[in-house]
Amino acid sequence: MNIAIDGPAGAGKSSIAKLVAKEMNFIYVDTGAMFRAMAYYFLSNGIDPQDEKAVNAVCGGIHIRIEYEDGIQHVYLNDMDVSTEIRKEEVGKNASVVAKYPVIREKLLELQRAMAAEKDVIMDGRDIGTVVLPDAEAKIFLTASSRVRAERRYKELKEKGEECDLDEIEKDIIARDEQDMNREVAPLKQAEDAVFVDTSYMAIHEVVAVIREIAESKRGGRGED
Ligand code: C5P
Repeated sequence: MNIAIDGPAGAGKSSIAKLVAKEMNFIYVDTGAMFRAMAYYFLSNGIDPQDEKAVNAVCGGIHIRIEYEDGIQHVYLNDMDVSTEIRKEEVGKNASVVAKYPVIREKLLELQRAMAAEKDVIMDGRDIGTVVLPDAEAKIFLTASSRVRAERRYKELKEKGEECDLDEIEKDIIARDEQDMNREVAPLKQAEDAVFVDTSYMAIHEVVAVIREIAESKRGGRGED
């Protein structure tokens, strides 16, 4: 069984998907991490992410691999574990820039579909319900107001001891959403058969319960077929 979770930056997709995966014994696949690893490669090799031609030219030599250690996803970029480095704001911003390019999306699509074919996965991203796994048994579109999403990210960064500004974070989040929603290939949008969940005023455990309920009902439905 596959569960697809899509939604804008900072909606809480990964925290929630991780908890649901644990409770339901699913594998959690964070597809954003794959785009981040690609962006990290360009940034650390002096390639301008805005330069599509330059990006395409080196794509063939980039190998992304996902492994699980104690149930936690690790992303390997040409055999180097970059799971920590890719979490930086700068990398996220540039992931959204390179995620527009068809060559990048094609490359990662194969890896994403192969992972879902092998196991019960809960996969999060922007185009999982629409493009990557259109036949996923359960689809959820998770969102929250941009202010709430910015406040959550601000808290996270502060806890890590990073200096940040709430208004700046909200501005970045809005710009990233715009970019993700308006690209030509696989834009961020709700699949027609996805359940819309606004988490602005919900606690994490409430969101987890809602998603489990949706997933369990689909699993039950499938059993009766
Ligand atoms: O979710 P996360 O913030 O890690 O994603 C980083 C960027 O990767 C997103 O802003 C989006 O542009 C891109 N992405 C995508 N499709 C996905 C997952 C992420 O385009 N399935």
